Amino acid sequence: MTKSINASLSTSNKKKIAKYADGTLTQAEIARAANVSREYVRQVVNVMRLPVKTNPAKYCSDCGTEIERSRVRCKKCQLLSNERSKVTLSCQQCKKKFTITKSEYDGRNRDRKLKVYFCSQQCFGSYIGKTHGKSALTSPLTILKRTFKGKINKAP
Ligand SMILES: [Zn+2]
Ligand SMILES: [Zn+2]
Repeated sequence: MTKSINASLSTSNKKKIAKYADGTLTQAEIARAANVSREYVRQVVNVMRLPVKTNPAKYCSDCGTEIERSRVRCKKCQLLSNERSKVTLSCQQCKKKFTITKSEYDGRNRDRKLKVYFCSQQCFGSYIGKTHGKSALTSPLTILKRTFKGKINKAP
């Protein structure tokens, strides 16, 4: 019983897909028009050997492998490129310039309210020590302390 309903359903879907698949629509467009999943269209198109329009392929700008149309690089090259792109910052304490990777930078900024950077924990520690007590509750320092909570010793 259930089986025959499923079978007739999928047959009507197949007919619908076959109707749209006249070579002028892509699989995605057929899926939208027939209100079925793309994967289903792909299977039916394969089994029934229906003509579909294909999007011109897109290739990774770095290594040339075929990629999804929404991407610029393949996943692997994108990761490499993120690693390669460095961000230069200057340390708030020693004023030394230092670089971190873009992905690290994004990670640091994710829950940061204040854009102040230190080249090391030591510099951060001295900065806190130096300015401790000078400013009140709402200072950027308070926010920083919250950010680094537990990581540095409280100044005496
Ligand atoms: Zn690539
Ligand atoms: Zn420093």
